[in-house]
Amino acid sequence: MIEILTPAELARARDTGALVAHILQTLQSRSVVGTNLLDIDRWTRDLIVEAGAQSCYVDYAPSFGRGPFGHYICTSVNDAVLHGLPHDYRLADGDLLTLDLAVVLGGVAADSALSFVVGDSRPPDRVAMIDATERALAAGIAAARPGARIGDLSHAIGTVLTAAGYPINTQFGGHGIGSTMHQDPHVSNTGRPGRGYPLRPGLLLALEPWVMADTAELVTDADGWTLRSATGCVTAHSEHTIAITDDGAEILTLRT
Ligand code: MG
Ligand code: MG
Repeated sequence: MIEILTPAELARARDTGALVAHILQTLQSRSVVGTNLLDIDRWTRDLIVEAGAQSCYVDYAPSFGRGPFGHYICTSVNDAVLHGLPHDYRLADGDLLTLDLAVVLGGVAADSALSFVVGDSRPPDRVAMIDATERALAAGIAAARPGARIGDLSHAIGTVLTAAGYPINTQFGGHGIGSTMHQDPHVSNTGRPGRGYPLRPGLLLALEPWVMADTAELVTDADGWTLRSATGCVTAHSEHTIAITDDGAEILTLRT
């Protein structure tokens, strides 16, 4: 199903997006050397409840996970890239942490992820990988306007990731979003321009380029949820929810 939001729904989507951005910024500032992933999960729960919002994750039980997820945020460290199940782990200097959060507020969902290096060290390979996913996300957003097709966005994202030297996995990518977190259309992180569903004002999309340093292959952790790089290499992920507007796209989950 593809949803097109009314102006009133779009106004509520802005509130949801701002909340997701605020929570992610708060969590990033608290994610320091020694922070436990279970504390990040607990803080997320408190911030969601405080805002009167609902978690998209806690009861989420799709076919690809050992559901329900049972936590409020995905915390993926180093070789973990997607669906990182929070567990009893204290962050170390140089860890590459991805926080991925989706909530519903006022009946509209928003979904966003960011990767960053914990502590004071700035390993060049990790910084470059995060930068590539952020530039790919920006390229996908820049290609989003009425009349453009999903393939145009996929192509823009994939071009940046490929030029940066990263293999691309096509099992998981971006998606439509609206009253629920995951909707059609699927937005692959690589694709051919001019193909796919044409974008219309009022359509919400979550674009989410993610990469692994030297492989496109995932393995599932023994926890039944966390997806890791098959080679154990480091990974990164950037995601925003955007709304297609009359003349382009608006980033709903923009952090200040
Ligand atoms: Mg997400
Ligand atoms: Mg998403």
